[in-house]
Amino acid sequence: MTDALPPRRLLLVHAHPDDEVTGTGATMAHYVAAGAHVTLVTCTLGEEGEIHVPELSQLEAKQADQLGGYRLVELSRACAALGVTDHRFLGGPGRYRDSGMMGLPTNEHPRAFWQADLDEAAGHLLEIIKEIQPQVMITYDENGFYGHPDHIQAHRVAMRAAELAGADGPEKIYWTAMPLSVLKEGMEAFRELDDNPFADVEKVEDLPFGHTDDEIAARMDGTDHYDRKVAAMRAHATQIPDNSWLYGIAGDFGGEFMGVEYFLLAKGERGPGEGPQNWENDLFSGVKTP
Ligand SMILES: [Zn+2]
Repeated sequence: MTDALPPRRLLLVHAHPDDEVTGTGATMAHYVAAGAHVTLVTCTLGEEGEIHVPELSQLEAKQADQLGGYRLVELSRACAALGVTDHRFLGGPGRYRDSGMMGLPTNEHPRAFWQADLDEAAGHLLEIIKEIQPQVMITYDENGFYGHPDHIQAHRVAMRAAELAGADGPEKIYWTAMPLSVLKEGMEAFRELDDNPFADVEKVEDLPFGHTDDEIAARMDGTDHYDRKVAAMRAHATQIPDNSWLYGIAGDFGGEFMGVEYFLLAKGERGPGEGPQNWENDLFSGVKTP
């Protein structure tokens, strides 16, 4: 089945359209450009997102409830920008619904991803794992990087699917991460910006994410693909407003801030690294590819 696919295969499991870009867009573009097969699985359509394009505001869940269908199109444009051609929705588009933020009544929707039966959802992913046979999988940590129920559920589903796949599952599993050292630098730099996302944060330890440098296993330098990442962000216009601080970073710090992505290694052996922290610079390092 995988004979027709490139030897290196990367699977990403994300919660909503746009999550693939912010945390892993440069890494995806890097591996597409390097000739690896990149499969993106998105678990929901992101129906409960806020809408930052005023003309489209009536698409929101409380009105026409058409945001999910619109975000499907945004996602396909983002994938095109990153060069990703293999994109699927877990269980098919619309199988699982965006659960909204933790504690909201939307968590209780019968199709909410938060309510999904773990083994059923993992079963959908297991089929993809068997088909693609990725050596490397990327998802979130137990806290879903920052606590959103769909991100936590994506973590559980991805880890359960890998467990069900057993020896046929990915050799290495990574979780998205941000080093506290980088966040500290960022907070200092952001103090100068008009639109400072950390304005209410006194110290990095108060943020719902962040890991020490020695917990981080890999630093992916995707700065060469920074333009693709920004184009993919632009494709998610309903979610990332034109005046977003994300573009502020882009303007002020260039590719360095947005083009570099960090990961924890949750399964598999750490390959050779570089730099003062001996971080891996290739998620496939040490993988036995044909
Ligand atoms: Zn999300």
